[in-house]
Amino acid sequence: MIVVMKSGASKEQIQKAVSTLDELGYKAHLIEGVLRTVIGAVGDERGKPQDVETLSVLEGVEKVVPILQPYKLASRDFKAEDTQFTIGDTLVGNKKIPVIAGPCSVENEEQIMEIAKSVKESGASMLRGGAYKPRTSPYAFQGLGIEGLKLLAKARELTGLPIVTEILDPHDLDAVCEYADMLQIGARNSQNYALLKQVGKSKKPVLLKRGMATTIMEFLMCAEYILSEGNENVILCERGIRTFETATRNTFDLNAIPVLKEKTHLPVFADPSHGTGYWQYVTPMALAAIAAGADGLIIEVHNNPAVAISDGGQSLKPRKFAALMEKALPVARAVGREM
Ligand code: PEP
Ligand code: MN
Repeated sequence: MIVVMKSGASKEQIQKAVSTLDELGYKAHLIEGVLRTVIGAVGDERGKPQDVETLSVLEGVEKVVPILQPYKLASRDFKAEDTQFTIGDTLVGNKKIPVIAGPCSVENEEQIMEIAKSVKESGASMLRGGAYKPRTSPYAFQGLGIEGLKLLAKARELTGLPIVTEILDPHDLDAVCEYADMLQIGARNSQNYALLKQVGKSKKPVLLKRGMATTIMEFLMCAEYILSEGNENVILCERGIRTFETATRNTFDLNAIPVLKEKTHLPVFADPSHGTGYWQYVTPMALAAIAAGADGLIIEVHNNPAVAISDGGQSLKPRKFAALMEKALPVARAVGREM
């Protein structure tokens, strides 16, 4: 439920509402607005209609509104305005659309440095690269691990780009947090609730990918796991879902973008690289995602896709990525955004 305090409610009155929520078994999340304070109360409300009554009569409380959706902190009811936060110098959730670009996997120093420099020149605002890779086969390249994280940090030093990298195992959390500016939860782990709780306890921004068979409702509940542990900096990322279609690697669910924007205040990014699986479809779907209201993009770029260790077929060459960035600007402006 949401406890809306009167404008001008005193600190003591707010504190009393928080302690009452605590006694009733709810976790309170404060949003201090310019005019008034709103308290999001998360807990099991089933069969306890009297709680609303108890809170409504407290001094300084204007009204108590139940949140009807199962996702609470992620909902627009809880917070109407878009969530914004920064990753390094990059502001997310604002008019300007940031683009995360880089290889699927960090392969070696020369590769990551060259790609980092080129995507920076083309206007990317963050660098991606997997150091821990979730591969379908246990015999496939699993990523460079710590060595990969160190190379990403070196690329950040060179370019100033904040880095985004996937975390697979809660045991690696400290190491990944030491080097990364944003943690990526991949599609395969999007419903790994133990991992979601762990990244929720960290203060790092999280790029949460949609699972390949995760409904929009389930996806929002995944975000709720992170938010409920106190980490409010979550980006949702549509990356395609499994359907009967085989012409593309996944079916990029463009619908998800406006649906998510309606239901949640969290920023919504799009990953047309994994969404389509073929480099030639990446640019058109990136433009479509911007037109549909995406707040950001994540694009796989490789300096030599033919020899890429993972996802070469869906990676853009640096020149094609530069062209995507040029084409994106007029589309962004047509929908009132900037690049
Ligand atoms: C990736 O970003 O390289 C990746 C593995 O993505 P996803 O989890 O969406 O498949
Ligand atoms: Mn990939």
